[in-house]
Amino acid sequence: MNFEMTEDQQMFHDSVARFARTELAPGAAIRARAPGYPWDIAKRMAELGLMGIPLPEADGGIGGSLVDALIAIQTVAEACPRSGDVIQAGNFGPVRTFAEYGTADQKARFLTPILEGRAVISLGMTEPQAGSAATEMTTSATPDGDDYLINGTKIFGTHSSEAEVFLVYVRFGPGLEGIGSVLIEKGTPGFTIGQPSAFMNGEDWSQLYFDNVRIPAGNVVLGPGGFRKQMAGFNVERLGNAARAVAVGRHAFNLARDHAAERKQFGRALCEFQGLQWKFAEMSLKLESAQLLLMRAAVNAGDGLPDAHDTALAKLACNEAGFFAANEALQIMGGMGFSEDSTAQYCLRRTRGWMIAGGSIEILKNRIAEGIFARRFPQAAPKS
Ligand SMILES: Cc1cc2nc3c(=O)[nH]c(=O)nc-3n(C[C@H](O)[C@H](O)[C@H](O)COP(=O)(O)OP(=O)(O)OC[C@H]3O[C@@H](n4cnc5c(N)ncnc54)[C@H](O)[C@@H]3O)c2cc1C
Repeated sequence: MNFEMTEDQQMFHDSVARFARTELAPGAAIRARAPGYPWDIAKRMAELGLMGIPLPEADGGIGGSLVDALIAIQTVAEACPRSGDVIQAGNFGPVRTFAEYGTADQKARFLTPILEGRAVISLGMTEPQAGSAATEMTTSATPDGDDYLINGTKIFGTHSSEAEVFLVYVRFGPGLEGIGSVLIEKGTPGFTIGQPSAFMNGEDWSQLYFDNVRIPAGNVVLGPGGFRKQMAGFNVERLGNAARAVAVGRHAFNLARDHAAERKQFGRALCEFQGLQWKFAEMSLKLESAQLLLMRAAVNAGDGLPDAHDTALAKLACNEAGFFAANEALQIMGGMGFSEDSTAQYCLRRTRGWMIAGGSIEILKNRIAEGIFARRFPQAAPKS
């Protein structure tokens, strides 16, 4: 058991840290307030080889590991929380599930612009009546000659207001085995992207409406029975979400540490009050232990996809630690932490969202309990 980075990982970390310190950290507060996706940062990251890190070179990726991708996303997000989202979009989000299961033709059509930082792909899973109960989704794919007709609606998708292409979970038939996924391009007749709404973390989302949207069979990523594979790919997205939670919690922690070392009240630096010292100790404990669970999930995954139980433990710990640290950091910074002049309040809003997105903390606990008892605990109401 070794808790140190390898020499290659350390070198990679150091080069990403240099880039983050010089090019990202100075604009972190501005980016936290700026609307829209940071396309300039996406293009720069593509130039630096920070998109598609764990994807095979044959797919236009870098051929690195999940651990490499975690090193990148955490180093970037700790320096500039908003820029961490770009690493998510290019390595951990639906792009990864798509790269895992998409056909060669689909990848040739859609992957290049995403890895070049010119486009994003958005995941359409959640529906107005199917959130935590994702398998209750009703958006349908009905065969029509060589095509499929898509009908239904999706909500809350990250990047849904700006994406060029959508990985949409659809129902080919009844039950769990009826679920799969398709690619739908912006501009396809019958596909409407609603007016953007804002999450409290500053991100936009648009409701997606599919009204007899005709797509070729070549746009099917996973046919009926693909749901489990889809969720296996989604575990990578969950780790990206977990990684940013810890890194953004650390960003807030660092702000509070510097503030407490400088700011004087009652004639003493804030860091000399034991009540605040203990807050730092607790933040540090939660962040460090969550980090270990995160890395364990990634290391255990090897070249494959992370295990669901490992992922649920890691995401739960990271989401709680990140939010705890951001909340305590804001408190330690007083009015300055609560002001929009500081990124502490942004960290609080961002880490709060990840406790809901990508498997809420309650759903993760349900999943962990299933691992502990080695049995399923169906949540659906019993049929009368
Ligand atoms: C920032 C953000 C980004 C998102 N990005 C995407 C995206 O890219 N694509 C996408 O498709 N969706 C996305 N979502 C939607 C997200 O996946 C859902 O919000 C989430 O699955 C919860 O569903 P819901 O909001 O309908 O809440 P509900 O399912 O209605 O749940 C409400 C509350 O009840 C709890 N609950 C529900 N069932 C149980 C149970 N069985 N046991 C215990 N507690 C339970 C939940 O944990 C939650 O606290 C995003 C959401 C957020 C906040």
